[in-house]
Amino acid sequence: MSGATRRDRVVVVGAGVGGLVAALWLAADGLDVTVLEAADAPGGKLQAQPLAGTWLDAGPTVFTMRWVFDALAARLGKRLDDALPLAPLHTLARHTWRDGSQLDLFADFEATVDAIGRFAGAADARGFRAFSARARAQHDTLLPSFMNAQRPNPVSLSWRVATHGLAGLGRISPFGSMWHGLGRHFQDARLRQLFGRYATYCGSSPLLAPATLMLVAHVEQQGVWSVPGGMHRLASTLATWLAELGVLVRCGARVSELQQQGGRISGVVLASGEVVPARCVVFNGDVSALAAGHLGPAVQRAAPAVTAQRRSLSAITWTAVLPRVQADLLRHNVYFSDDSPREFRALFAQRRLPTQPTVYVCAQDRENGHTPSDTERLLCLVNAPADGDTTDGQVNADACEQRMLAHLAQCGLPLPWEQGTVRRSTPHDFERRYPGSGGALYGRASHGWQASFARAGARCALPGLYLAGGGVHPGPGVPMAALSGQRAAECVAHDLGLADHRRSA
Ligand SMILES: Cc1cc2nc3c(=O)[nH]c(=O)nc-3n(C[C@H](O)[C@H](O)[C@H](O)COP(=O)(O)OP(=O)(O)OC[C@H]3O[C@@H](n4cnc5c(N)ncnc54)[C@H](O)[C@@H]3O)c2cc1C
Repeated sequence: MSGATRRDRVVVVGAGVGGLVAALWLAADGLDVTVLEAADAPGGKLQAQPLAGTWLDAGPTVFTMRWVFDALAARLGKRLDDALPLAPLHTLARHTWRDGSQLDLFADFEATVDAIGRFAGAADARGFRAFSARARAQHDTLLPSFMNAQRPNPVSLSWRVATHGLAGLGRISPFGSMWHGLGRHFQDARLRQLFGRYATYCGSSPLLAPATLMLVAHVEQQGVWSVPGGMHRLASTLATWLAELGVLVRCGARVSELQQQGGRISGVVLASGEVVPARCVVFNGDVSALAAGHLGPAVQRAAPAVTAQRRSLSAITWTAVLPRVQADLLRHNVYFSDDSPREFRALFAQRRLPTQPTVYVCAQDRENGHTPSDTERLLCLVNAPADGDTTDGQVNADACEQRMLAHLAQCGLPLPWEQGTVRRSTPHDFERRYPGSGGALYGRASHGWQASFARAGARCALPGLYLAGGGVHPGPGVPMAALSGQRAAECVAHDLGLADHRRSA
């Protein structure tokens, strides 16, 4: 691209974590950045919800891979801990089954080995050591070659992995399923179920996801932190850093059209009719919104659609402010169904809510032994099919709510549910907040070895248009969406000819 200058305007559409992080890297490069967000606050899924006179996290709650944000802070001459003094969790999560059995995973690896030995016996404790070694190898192989790289194809990934040693190709186990891989490490079905749940961090089924996703276990082993005041404070911190760089996040500014001129992006049109010219646009909405025509005809073919069959999971969530719960809760708690394969077949093959759901409960006032005094804030989540564009699902959600509460009670967690202190979100609500997604919260499901390559990269078919977010490479989750924002910013800077980026993207 010729004639580009640092004062060329880059418009970022969407202030989810991918959009905010892209904007920060671009602004740090001295570019003139404008962020346009449809909602009335930045953060996207990283959002706080008001309820019963307080605020609570209604989206992500598990904060991992802090190094992504440490690196961003360092680029800006800051320290993450000065803005958000993160607290590492000593106990990562508590897992409970209906028969009363319970297993905690700890930040201390040997404490987890001991706990698994007591829970399932010495063979499974050894299995956990082998599983963890494999998860670490997968992580260490794919970090430089996949997560920290622009979107690879199978050939370029094999080449990059092979440059770290040919054994790397064997280590990442792309072809076997996660479920099969877990069966080789664990005899106890509950452990296979527990570690298989990591596939849902990418909105996927452990029966269909590649064994490569075991690396999520290593990510958690490297640390889970709680964010003082709530995860949503990460979004407000990123917005504050942008303001300090002179970048305003314009909220309540829905973009209804992306425009092109002469075969490249030329600007955006707001729902109000206002036109904002741009040299480059980073789109942080759901990538399927483009193919669905929500952003106009110029960009309808800019990136491939994710068909309904290939969507990742949605969820039904409940935020609740309740009298202090009389149960042994930690911050992160999982109440497992009796039958994981049945649950995931219902979600993906039959596209319906399971009759008995696994329930995740985040007790937001509990952390490292601290318990709340009188009331407490909970987020409960069950996985759901992403059908929010075809049904409002209220009847099914009512039934699901009853089953969820019954299951929790059977697992020793009776919740004193009260009207007015509970707020529910369904796939239909998520589709309305993230148009084009059908309510899918993690983009395309990671099913089969090719799924990671099918995700869009930062560049797309229309020059000047870039993508960032959990639906594009390297994938979903707060830190991964942040990395996608960084990748998009690198591509913009490279394509604008900024010297430092000419070789990197
Ligand atoms: C209930 C829930 C629990 C989760 N739990 C975790 C967890 O524990 N840990 C974790 O790491 N991840 C978790 N995730 C996933 C994580 O939240 C997401 O992967 C990540 O936040 C996605 O960021 P994003 O960049 O894709 O932007 P999004 O959050 O998808 O935001 C996109 C933004 O773009 C805006 N937008 C879209 N279209 C337009 C338009 N036309 N004009 C203007 N603005 C537009 C939207 O309003 C939105 O603000 C969870 C998600 C949910 C919903």
